[in-house]
Amino acid sequence: MRRLYANAWVVTMDDAGTEHPSGWVLVEDGLVAAVGAGSGPEAEERVDLSGAVVTPGLVNTHHHLYQTLTRARAQQADLFTWLRELYPVWARIDAEAEYAAARAGLAELALAGCTTVFDHHYVFPRGRDGLVEAEVAAARELGVRFIASRGSMDLGESDGGLPPNELVEDIDAVLADTERLVRELHEAGPGARVQIAVAPCSPFSVSRRLMEDSATLARRLGLPLHTHLAETMEEEAYCLELYGCTPVEYLVDLGWLAGDVWCAHCVHLSLKDVDTFGATGTGVAHCPTSNLRLGAGVAPVHALTSAGARVGLGVDGSASNERSDLLFEVKQALLVARGRGGPAALTARDALRLGTRGGAAVLGREDIGSLETGKCADLAVWRTDVLELGGADDLVAALVLSAPHRVDRLVVGGEEVVHGGALVHADEATIAHEHRVQARRFAA
Ligand SMILES: [Zn+2]
Repeated sequence: MRRLYANAWVVTMDDAGTEHPSGWVLVEDGLVAAVGAGSGPEAEERVDLSGAVVTPGLVNTHHHLYQTLTRARAQQADLFTWLRELYPVWARIDAEAEYAAARAGLAELALAGCTTVFDHHYVFPRGRDGLVEAEVAAARELGVRFIASRGSMDLGESDGGLPPNELVEDIDAVLADTERLVRELHEAGPGARVQIAVAPCSPFSVSRRLMEDSATLARRLGLPLHTHLAETMEEEAYCLELYGCTPVEYLVDLGWLAGDVWCAHCVHLSLKDVDTFGATGTGVAHCPTSNLRLGAGVAPVHALTSAGARVGLGVDGSASNERSDLLFEVKQALLVARGRGGPAALTARDALRLGTRGGAAVLGREDIGSLETGKCADLAVWRTDVLELGGADDLVAALVLSAPHRVDRLVVGGEEVVHGGALVHADEATIAHEHRVQARRFAA
């Protein structure tokens, strides 16, 4: 069936940045069949969007959904202090809690316009099975695209790492479980709804051997590879002491940095590091709210994009950014870029590009991130008759500058998963209630 979304300001995010202030999007078989200006072609179903802004669905490139269970903890702490306080609490995670957490976080993301979510899960307490499966079930139920990760930690306190020993795993078990999840869940090729990434947690919680073996496994199976990197000054000091080099130099030494890799944060980069990211095509998940919340600093996004690095946005886990709202993160990226580099450092449209096209590039997905013929019909519809947008002629810039906003409709692969500002496949109030029931088990 052909469905025409008409009477809209369509932001395509194609290479030329084409917009149709009075335009339409034609959807057929889960794909964008055509986009254009004017009243549009005939279709079996015509949806009049009354002047709404239509953007590509937003793409979240870094999250820890389980952290919705532990918001507003360690409020004045730096990263390492925050982690040390939270690791023992997170050790209580099981599949039931993970499912409730994922449903809550994914619902928040969907209602704020996000159609594709990457989640970095790395807490796997011994004997608690089904954690990644629980997240995937929640994503399938709500209808969003999901890239899960089989994260890992194997460098416990007694070996000089940061996490407690009870939270670290055996390398062979990690690798075998990753392969199992890939066999059972990973979809390859355009339109994939569920994928698996290989994602050892960080240089201060993973051994050199697990970093190397993870990269080898990812490259053998053709999977994307991810980790945290250069988030804080403390991490840099830790790496200098343990490995005799900076976090980025360490990853270069491991043979990690390449076009199939993206790293979260990348706040503390030297000019040489920035060049290395550009030259190798390594991606960055820029998480400005989380970086501000933990007082970590601001990533050099302008320098990174100028050097040719791929940059997308991430909300990061809800224990360091209590809100899972990627449109708000688009605005935050704009604000921190301007705080760092002045008012021309990042335009509203370039910030929105980071949250759509940029995120798709970071995740290695050519089939999403823009509204062009043949791409997945993943789109976010934003009403323009709301209080916050009154008085604006440039509705696209205003959408970013006045964020956050709740999306009116969210379409994933041609299917509406949010309609009239409400989830189509689940009940928001029920999700919120069940999430609170599980969160009580994690009370301080
Ligand atoms: Zn993170």
